[in-house]
Amino acid sequence: MKYVSCQNIQNGLRFEYNAIKLCCFMSGNTPEPLFIKKDYWGEKLDWKEVVDSIYKIRENQKNGITPAECVGCFGLQEREWDDNPKFKWIQIAHWSECNCNCTYCYRLQSNFEKPKKRYKIMPIIKELDKMNMLDYNGELAYSGGEPASLREFDDITNFFLKKGMRIIMVHSNGIKPVKSVLKGLKTDTMSVTVSVDCGDRQKFKQIKQVDAYNKVMDTLKKYVKAQGNDKTSVRSKYIIIPRVNDTKEDVDKWLDETQRVGIQKVILDFEADWLERNKHNIPEYIDELYQYIVDSTKQRGVELQFYGVATQYREIKKLNVEGYGLHQE
Ligand code: SF4
Ligand code: SF4
Repeated sequence: MKYVSCQNIQNGLRFEYNAIKLCCFMSGNTPEPLFIKKDYWGEKLDWKEVVDSIYKIRENQKNGITPAECVGCFGLQEREWDDNPKFKWIQIAHWSECNCNCTYCYRLQSNFEKPKKRYKIMPIIKELDKMNMLDYNGELAYSGGEPASLREFDDITNFFLKKGMRIIMVHSNGIKPVKSVLKGLKTDTMSVTVSVDCGDRQKFKQIKQVDAYNKVMDTLKKYVKAQGNDKTSVRSKYIIIPRVNDTKEDVDKWLDETQRVGIQKVILDFEADWLERNKHNIPEYIDELYQYIVDSTKQRGVELQFYGVATQYREIKKLNVEGYGLHQE
């Protein structure tokens, strides 16, 4: 049936260290995102009840009633939606521990709520699997703290690898190579994205507040070597941070280093808070830098992908975002 909805309303599920949601976005018009469970610290849940509350949101959307938190979000689109009830777009971000301190990290923001408890996700995943609620023809994306700082990480990843999850996306700072990532990269179903944001040790120290640039480049070399047939599984991300890494020289250095370690795909994003504050008044030199990255990657034969905040930028600039899906069908 054709109606307006979004992939995450239809089939999304996201675990955060203090909440359960459908997605990681907060691009609607309300001060709070759409919570399924707010203030969640791993308590035992009646999953039938939780699933029913999600079904209600989907049913409302089918009838043209969009949750206030989603109104205005770029994820909404009119198209044919199937009635697949399972969770297909799973995001695991239930931990916040990390071994670096990026200046743009949510953990460093004043409204960051220190975790009251840590919780394990494996029992929940196993319960949902038993209920036949997980669609392994979907996507698992990690975006929590750092995978290398999560003890459960290899267990979760090995579980999904064994189940044949179609896409597994890992986000890591790359300071330490992770065992199950080295294994997963060989399967062509996993990708790993490392936000390097620069091309030298000094700038790295400034952005990440740890002196680990060389370790990251070493890990990236190992990951590149571990790739299977898909040579675009290892990605270097560049978050444009105005006044920090906003020159063409910064970008050149980053791309030179990216290619030096054999990476063939990069991701572009913007510092989210900066874009939010400046969306009505983006300086011209940022537009030029954006275009420079688009042109340079093309010239160098490096594949370029835009992440969520960059897509918001493209929407603001009325650039073509058509065909952009939150997840790969
Ligand atoms: S419409 Fe946007 S905010 Fe709402 S669930 Fe979809 S992606 Fe998330
Ligand atoms: S690597 Fe990720 S979790 Fe760690 S400080 Fe940076 S942004 Fe935060």
